[in-house]
Amino acid sequence: MGLGKTRDNPINRSSVRHTSHNHPLRVFKSQEEDQIICSGCEHELIGQAFKCTKSECDYILHKSCFDLRGETQHKSHPNHPLALLYSPPNGLSTYTCDACGEYGSAFTYHCSECKYHIHVGCAFVPENVERDDHEHPLTLLYNTPCKGREDGMMFICDVCEEDMSEKLWVYYCKECDYGTHVHSCTSYEDIEPKKGEEKEEGESSSSTSHIKSLMEAEKEMREMAIIHQLQLDALDAAGSYVGSWEPRRKYYW
Ligand SMILES: [Zn+2]
Ligand SMILES: [Zn+2]
Ligand SMILES: [Zn+2]
Ligand SMILES: [Zn+2]
Ligand SMILES: [Zn+2]
Ligand SMILES: [Zn+2]
Repeated sequence: MGLGKTRDNPINRSSVRHTSHNHPLRVFKSQEEDQIICSGCEHELIGQAFKCTKSECDYILHKSCFDLRGETQHKSHPNHPLALLYSPPNGLSTYTCDACGEYGSAFTYHCSECKYHIHVGCAFVPENVERDDHEHPLTLLYNTPCKGREDGMMFICDVCEEDMSEKLWVYYCKECDYGTHVHSCTSYEDIEPKKGEEKEEGESSSSTSHIKSLMEAEKEMREMAIIHQLQLDALDAAGSYVGSWEPRRKYYW
């Protein structure tokens, strides 16, 4: 199946291997409307990528994820190097990122000694960011400003208003004591279902309503059958009168 295709389209057909995946990959350019999620960092993928050559396999990596180093020294964890794992440690299906607090199920930078793991995407977040809704630049901290407090007070994200574990990273403005999670928090104003969920919900509600309408149709049919039976019964019962009714009508004419 590959041969004909190769002759038709000779550009970028050479395949490459990546140790994270056991099929060959090839260069791919993803468009925004493709809505593809990278199999490494689990972020949306637009632009240069490597995609699995098998048509039934949707494994795909950002070029930057393809090129990730197997080991990195990270400022957030100065005592040990972090090793790149292609799946969550210890055979689990997910891990919790120590930077953003969200689950991960694909690549992670990991310290086995400290059980510290961060998303590969979180490993490269900028050290300073600006937010439209805050007048000062925010600086990345590798734990919340409440870390080590003896009164146990927890830091609350100023965007999503959730408590943050003290070890999570924060984008922080010291001047205002304003801070946010590293991931893009869903604030109360813009809670909207993710596209995938929305679709699922749509599907399930339409299948529920489908079942409902089936049930209604069945019920209707049963009712109709009962009515029909009642009519038959009534006719049967009326049968003896038929003779007397019809002539009466005729009398009226
Ligand atoms: Zn990626
Ligand atoms: Zn594959
Ligand atoms: Zn993370
Ligand atoms: Zn460590
Ligand atoms: Zn938040
Ligand atoms: Zn500020």
